[in-house]
Amino acid sequence: MFKIGLTGGIASGKSTVLTYFKDKGIPYIDADIVAREVVEPGTEGLQAIVDVFGLNVLHDDGTLNREALGAIVFHNEEKRLQLNSCLKEYIRNRIMELTANYEVQDTPILIYDIPLLIEGEWYTMMDEVWLVYVNEPTQIERLMSRNGLTKEDAIARIKSQMRLDDKRSYADVIIDNNGTPQTLEAQLDTIFSDRIKPLLQEAQ
Ligand code: ADP
Repeated sequence: MFKIGLTGGIASGKSTVLTYFKDKGIPYIDADIVAREVVEPGTEGLQAIVDVFGLNVLHDDGTLNREALGAIVFHNEEKRLQLNSCLKEYIRNRIMELTANYEVQDTPILIYDIPLLIEGEWYTMMDEVWLVYVNEPTQIERLMSRNGLTKEDAIARIKSQMRLDDKRSYADVIIDNNGTPQTLEAQLDTIFSDRIKPLLQEAQ
C-alpha cells in the first residue's frame, strides 16, 4: 500500500486538495476526524481527559465540552501539554488501526491528512510527502477571509506553526497553491495522471 502524507499550514489549501482526491475515490485518513473520534463518549480518550481535568469538562449528556476544556488549557501551558500527550497516544493508535484495516483490504493507495505530519514525525512512515504550499501574504489573506480573523490574529496563528518554508525540504511533491483554484486543479490533474493512475493500474 502506497502511503501519501498530505501536509501544509493553516489555510494553505490542504482540505481543498484532499477533497479533489476524495472525489476521485481515493481512500484517506483524516487526522482531525480521528481526533474527534477518540474523545467520543465511552472512549478511553474521553476518560483520560476526565481523569486529568475533572467532570467539569463534560456536558450534561456526557460529551466533551470543548469550550470548557479550551478555557482551561488556553491560559495554562502545562495543562495544554498534559492534554496533548494524553490524546496523542489514542490518535496514533487509531490511525495505525485504520491503516491496518486498509492493508488487509489490499488498498493500493492511502492518503493521510495530518496537520502535524512533520512535527509529529508521521512523515517517516510515508512513501511520499506532499506539501500544499502558499506564500505568507496569501496564507494570511485566505486565513483572514475563511475564519473572519483580523490580520494580527491570522499572523499569530500562522506564527504558532512550523514555517511552511521549513516544511519544503521534507516534501517529495510541492503543490503550489498561490494561484487560482483553476491553477490548483490543473496541477492536481497532472499529479493524478502521473502519480496516482499508475499505482491504481499496477494494483489491478
Ligand atoms: P487548509 O485545509 O489548509 O486549512 P483550505 O483548503 O480550507 O485550507 O483553504 C483555505 C481557504 O482558502 C478556504 O476558504 C479555501 O476555499 C480557500 N482557497 C483554497 N485554495 C484557494 C485558491 N487557489 N484560490 C483562492 N482561494 C483558495
